[in-house]
Formats: sequence, C-alpha cells, structure tokens
Amino acid sequence: MRIGIGYDIHRFDGRRPLKVGGIRIPSARGLAGHSDADVLLHALADALFGAVGAPDLGEQFPSSQARWRNADSRRFIEAAMRRVRRGGWTVGNVDATVIADAPRLTGQKRRIVASISRLLGVATGCVSVKAKTTEGFAPGKAGMAAQAVVLLVPRGRTR
Ligand code: MG
Repeated sequence: MRIGIGYDIHRFDGRRPLKVGGIRIPSARGLAGHSDADVLLHALADALFGAVGAPDLGEQFPSSQARWRNADSRRFIEAAMRRVRRGGWTVGNVDATVIADAPRLTGQKRRIVASISRLLGVATGCVSVKAKTTEGFAPGKAGMAAQAVVLLVPRGRTR
C-alpha cells in the first residue's frame, strides 16, 4: 500500500466561476489561480502524486507555462491516475476536507463525491469529502483551502 497527502489554498476572485472537485458550484465568487483553481482537485492531485513518489503538481504543471492557463484541473487528476496505474496501483480510498466559510458546500457534497469517484474510477463509497468552516479565521472569507489523503492499493486486489 501507499499513502499520499495533499494540501492547497486559493484566494477568492469575483470574476471566475467556482469549481470544487471538478464541478461548478453556485457561488458569487470563484477562486483565483493560473488553472481553473479547483482547490480540491489540486490537493487530491498532490496526494496522488505524493503516494507514487512523483513530483508535485506545481512542478509538473507550472503556472509559468501558458498552456495550463485556465486549465481544467480534471486533466491533472487524469495525469496523476496515469502515474498511479503505471505503478500498478489503484485507489483504495480518498478522504478530503474543504475548508471555507462560504459558500457552504453541504448541499453539493454528493455531486462532488460523484465527480471525484468518476475521475478516480472507484465507487462513491471509496470517496469521502467533508466541508469545514474556519469560524471566521484564515482563510475565512478570503479563500478556500483543501486537504486530501489517498490510499493506494495494488491493482487487482479485492478490497
Ligand atoms: Mg492550486
């Protein structure tokens, strides 16, 4: 087995749509970033890359490169999953936390879990997404943060 951890944080930017976990979330504000700023998928990609000992997201998809401008972060997860599969692994389970005071994600969690489970090729029961507020502390209303832990298991082994 292999384990990986990922973390990310983005500031709010009023001009962009908000994407969390690969889906659009109804919100007056999106997040600033070079790609589509999907904070949860960035944390998840780093957890996957970390689990297989690959270079991190920023190293593989640098914001200095114009080709990743406004990039759909699902591409990052697909790239990470290619590394995972190449290593003979598959995802056992994912546990993630999104930290934000607004918007409240409680009503969106089921959609986010479905999106991530599709991207990883696992059952929805293998994906946990939790939403926490900061009770007004940083990043509070200024942005959103996310943490993700992933466990990889040898491909082909029943879980
Ligand atoms: Mg990021």
